[in-house]
Amino acid sequence: MPAELIDGVAVAKEVRAEVARAAAALKTRGITPGLTAVLVGDDPASAVYVRSKEKACIEAGMKGEAIRLPADTTQADLLALVDKLNADPTVHGILVQMPLPKHIDPQAIILRIAPEKDVDGFHPVNVGRVWIGEKNGFAPCTPAGVMVMLEKAGVRVQGANVVILGRSNIVGKPMVSLMVAASATVTVCHSKTRDLPSVVRGADILIAAIGKPEFVTADMVKPGAVVIDVGINRVDDASHPKGYRIVGDVAFPTVKEIASKISPVPGGVGPMTIAMLLKNTVRAAAQGAQ
Ligand code: NDP
Repeated sequence: MPAELIDGVAVAKEVRAEVARAAAALKTRGITPGLTAVLVGDDPASAVYVRSKEKACIEAGMKGEAIRLPADTTQADLLALVDKLNADPTVHGILVQMPLPKHIDPQAIILRIAPEKDVDGFHPVNVGRVWIGEKNGFAPCTPAGVMVMLEKAGVRVQGANVVILGRSNIVGKPMVSLMVAASATVTVCHSKTRDLPSVVRGADILIAAIGKPEFVTADMVKPGAVVIDVGINRVDDASHPKGYRIVGDVAFPTVKEIASKISPVPGGVGPMTIAMLLKNTVRAAAQGAQ
């Protein structure tokens, strides 16, 4: 029997409605939650992300602002802007869109953002807070979105064997943090993992985040497993009007025949990332008001 779909668009809509209600409640106390996104340069994909973040904020009744800077902006100027935003009481969340131009050290920028406004959850203080279970920490939006999708899909994480494919700082590692906190038994795979298919076959819940199109095939999935596909990959497709299509890290057509629940790409984890960013920003505003 084909797997049940975990619809990220629908779950993200629910989260955004919750965010809008929380933002409205804060407004009655005179606080409008505000997110400022900073974009350096003219990478087209980044420009699209920043525009959608701005739009999503406004739709949720929040203040969404984007600051666009030229590609030759110096690191010192960008740090000075971060300082200014850190000091601005109408800005509750700061997001510097990655990747940055090569002459800017992303870590220096991340370290400069006040942890209380770091709604991307990349600052080491937030990484640590989430790891040790402090409730005021901000978890990165993509793995946080995966947790909400599983919860809304009624998947029991406690005690489950969770295999995470990928160990990046923005997806794989924080996914470990959140899964451990949710009492899963966690295994992380990466490019040096020996006999990866057999490790993956042990998963009750599989989270794929490696950036390799359709890497996870049906023979690597335990029948009845829950599969969450974080991957976003462009593959050439002459039959598509754009000449390419977007696929995940999971071979969806065959894996959906084996899994019990599966998230598609597109329409899975992708829409959750912005929804969780809004959620973190509203929480930053609420925490700041305490
Ligand atoms: P990174 O490239 O930073 O990390 C990839 C990870 O996968 C690394 O840990 C790497 O291992 C591992 N890996 C790569 N190839 C293999 C392989 N053949 N076998 C086993 N492990 C492998 O990617 P990200 O974490 O940033 O992103 C992963 C995917 O998720 C991408 O497709 C990205 O586009 C997508 N993404 C989606 C988001 C969303 O909103 N839905 C948000 C962020 C990312 P090693 O560490 O050993 O090199």
